[in-house]
Amino acid sequence: MTKQIIQTCAFCSKKKADVDILITGNSGNICDVCVLKATAIVEEEKTLTHRDKIKEDLKLYKPLEIHKYLDQYIIGQEYAKKILSVAVYNHYKRILSGSDDLELDKSNILIVGDTGTGKTLFARTIAKMLNVPFCIVDATSMTEAGYVGEDVESLLTRLLQVANYDVASAERGIVFIDEIDKIARKNDNPSITRDVSGEGVQQALLKLMEGSIVNVPPQGGRKHPDQKYIQINTKNILFICGGAFSGIDKIIKNRTGKHSLGFARKKNIQKNEKKYHGFSYVLPQDIKKYGLIPELIGRLPILTYLLPLDKSILLQILIEPKNAVIKQYKKLFLMDNIELSINPKVYDLIVGYAYDFNLGARGLRSICEKLFLDALYSMPSNDTKKRVLKIDVKYAKKQLKELEFNNLKSAS
Ligand code: ADP
Repeated sequence: MTKQIIQTCAFCSKKKADVDILITGNSGNICDVCVLKATAIVEEEKTLTHRDKIKEDLKLYKPLEIHKYLDQYIIGQEYAKKILSVAVYNHYKRILSGSDDLELDKSNILIVGDTGTGKTLFARTIAKMLNVPFCIVDATSMTEAGYVGEDVESLLTRLLQVANYDVASAERGIVFIDEIDKIARKNDNPSITRDVSGEGVQQALLKLMEGSIVNVPPQGGRKHPDQKYIQINTKNILFICGGAFSGIDKIIKNRTGKHSLGFARKKNIQKNEKKYHGFSYVLPQDIKKYGLIPELIGRLPILTYLLPLDKSILLQILIEPKNAVIKQYKKLFLMDNIELSINPKVYDLIVGYAYDFNLGARGLRSICEKLFLDALYSMPSNDTKKRVLKIDVKYAKKQLKELEFNNLKSAS
């Protein structure tokens, strides 16, 4: 009599009769449930290996190296460069240190500075150097869950998109939140108008910044019940927030004038009244008074400021950085075999307009666009042999006369 062999799963030992599918191999069987479990283990292992790989690829730059890199693209703002170099170094040091007994706290960054003073440039340059995913979001476009607008979580969708949906890579990225001052609470600062849901958005941001596992809708936009979420851990994402905080100088002046400054420091301020700029004394309590909630300020322990740009800095920005506006136009023209020769006095003219428009360095590009438009339009199709385009003050004034008109109009 032949003994009947009962087929079982080699992993869970269940009999064929007790499972839906039993797959037979050369020397053993596996059931459908164990196949699914094994697949999940393989995926998890793959992700862990990938995470380790990303961690290995992350190069730890020392503060001095970071500062030197920033110098190539950013003129001046030495204090911010120093603070940010140390902050970024510590942030990635913390990631690489792993989680042993002493966990280092995450230190997100808040940059206070007028529009066009380089807040975005700082964040972008740091991300470029580290080669990590980077995205910019506007705080005013966000709402707390349930309101019409973009959910706060959807900012992680952007980061995920930039990271090509590589979760581990997104989890090491940098998010720049612009105009954080525009979601300030109203009652602390009655002169500021803002979104009614400002405080709710601050609460929602707080959750992301302190490090949590967030369900992110892959396509962004509103949540939808049957949309599959991707889980992102925000523990190691660096948040850099920026805002102009217009009017905060009054809060600072009130404070410094009455209380916290010692006599010597006060005297110094008076002596250097012209040089004194309120931002350089900004403290977390001023930000609180402005209307950011204390818990959120607590998650932004690195506080720094950018100084307004004077004419000499604007001139440097126009011509010196690695990707200076003028260098970019020279390259554009050269691609059509045109050499750009600009009288240095034209630079002063451009800077003068940018300064008057009060747009920081942002005005430089739009002024140059106007200055070169006609040449960029007509010259490429004229000829192909090498030519020189001379830009003198007379030509520049003619091209920019419209600005003169607008400027006079806005001044009157
Ligand atoms: P913000 O975010 O503070 O409004 P941006 O970073 O967008 O300002 O800067 C506006 C423009 O001015 C950008 O083209 C930037 O490259 C340039 N810029 C601003 N500050 C500097 C600086 N210190 N050095 C070089 N370029 C600068």
